[in-house]
Amino acid sequence: MGKIWRVSGPLVIADEMKGSQVYEIVEIGEEGLVGEIIGLEGNKAIIQAHEDTLGLKAGEVVRGTGRILSAELGPGIVGAIYDGLQKSLLTLVEDTGSFIKRGAKAPALARDKKWQFTPRVKLGDTVSEGDIIGTVPETNLIEHRVMVPIGIKGTVKEIREGEYTVEEPVARVEHDGEVRSLLLMQEWPVRKPRPYKQRFDPSGLLTTGMRILDYMFPLALGGKASIPGGFGTGKTVALQQLARWAQTDLNIYVGCGERGNEMADVLYSFRQLREPKTGRLLQEKEVFIANTSNMPVVAREASIFVGITMAEYFRDMGYDVLLVADSTSRWAEAMREMGGRLEEMPGEEGFPSYMGSRLSSFYERAGMVKCLGSPERRGSVTVAGAVSPPGADFSEPVTQNTLRIVDALYSLDVSLANKRHFPAISWLTSYSLYADAVKDWWDKIDPGWVDTRATALRILQQEAELEEIVRLVGPEALPEGDKLLLLVARMIREDFLQQSAYHEVDTYCTPTKAGLMLKTIIRFYELAQEMLNSGAGIESIRSSPAVYKISRMKDIADEVFEQRVKELWSEMEESLIARKRVP
Ligand code: ADP
Ligand code: MG
Repeated sequence: MGKIWRVSGPLVIADEMKGSQVYEIVEIGEEGLVGEIIGLEGNKAIIQAHEDTLGLKAGEVVRGTGRILSAELGPGIVGAIYDGLQKSLLTLVEDTGSFIKRGAKAPALARDKKWQFTPRVKLGDTVSEGDIIGTVPETNLIEHRVMVPIGIKGTVKEIREGEYTVEEPVARVEHDGEVRSLLLMQEWPVRKPRPYKQRFDPSGLLTTGMRILDYMFPLALGGKASIPGGFGTGKTVALQQLARWAQTDLNIYVGCGERGNEMADVLYSFRQLREPKTGRLLQEKEVFIANTSNMPVVAREASIFVGITMAEYFRDMGYDVLLVADSTSRWAEAMREMGGRLEEMPGEEGFPSYMGSRLSSFYERAGMVKCLGSPERRGSVTVAGAVSPPGADFSEPVTQNTLRIVDALYSLDVSLANKRHFPAISWLTSYSLYADAVKDWWDKIDPGWVDTRATALRILQQEAELEEIVRLVGPEALPEGDKLLLLVARMIREDFLQQSAYHEVDTYCTPTKAGLMLKTIIRFYELAQEMLNSGAGIESIRSSPAVYKISRMKDIADEVFEQRVKELWSEMEESLIARKRVP
């Protein structure tokens, strides 16, 4: 047991700490505040306190625990709301009222709740790490697959169907005369990636329901993406949309140092909204980690690693998991603050030199893998993190370091946000390296995807080039063909890429609908070009009723969409052909 020697903000230096280890968890003071040893010098330990240190004084006790920062993994995670240290906020609110005291304890997994366990292996079977020994219906959407913890193997000596709490043994295995109990719950040190058998390249579309992502800059299962953007450009809304609608098995939302009222909004909406495919409440496939701006800054790092550890655990069951983090810049700022207090030699703009490798140790845990154990299965973790560069200056270190790590970039543009073009994702500076990884997926839904996408991106590119000329000579001086191109580019931007998160229908767009929408615009372009070639003027094209109808496509409900678009196509063909000038 040690003693506090000095306190400086979230940093506590304790004396008489011989025998401690770096990354060991300690309890500080009478309230037992959670801290983590980040350095040792002789008898002294440098401790990063994950809770508010106000009022702690020299001489108060510091207790080593011998444990390192770990996550509790087991049934009860899905639908939970945690703080950065995986304390259940729901339990805390019930126990201590909505103002949560520091040092308050609330286990991540309820100890009294019973779960229905169904074995998948039988007496005498040999099992080893990662094997699924049974299942628990955690929610209506998630079957919890109970796995043999890493490092354990043996012959099943006891296993029974029944109701168990997370601490009661559901099975016993024996190896070399040693008997081990298997529980519904296991622990895992959060800074250490969970092992797997084999890693694959990301593949298959992570369907988000956002057209600019799914169609233009696709995110693949197992991929890593970043959403940088200035204040108010739509980072939070974009990540919330991902967490709501992504067609993954489980979505984890990490609120990292952002405003508490925003987090409250997310939680409230998730408790109301239903999943489009199954009609079940979204919270049946969602986990929340709320580490808001008024919580201690250093717990931001813990919240990120707790989140990614849970993601890997569900991946190991064979699920596709998405984790979104808003915002990784707040985490980097916490590193800067700690680095400053430790008087480390600062790197760029005061951030510690290890900031880049710390960020990558998080993002690199994304991936698609062959899981350990039997039955054979694949799972994936996909990560999307927001970055909030001050003054929307993307040259700052957090954005630059993140760009080196991720393979998809959704770059938010202040001028688009000012024009209320949402999502304000720039089609000129965003990119995805996953186009090849999702091609097979798209082939089954929309065999024309590669061409349609390329055509649309080319039109937008040409528009950007023409803009310079328009600025110099005005739009009317352009040849008719260019005027048509500008019209079509505007249709792609406004009628396809723009998508309101708040519109009842348009908040989620199926990939099929997205494909048909864009094809309709491209078909319009072809027909209009024919008209121009026949000598018709651009005015008669602009005033075609198809232009208006195309602009309303996004509001048409899925059930009637195909029929309505078919009608639109035949109308379009008739009316545009009718307007062709007969020579
Ligand atoms: P940031 O997190 O980047 O500061 P927000 O995500 O809070 O910005 O977005 C700011 C505002 O922009 C929102 O309150 C909303 O009015 C608008 N907005 C952003 N994205 C969308 C969207 N996809 N659809 C509609 N409105 C949006
Ligand atoms: Mg935000």
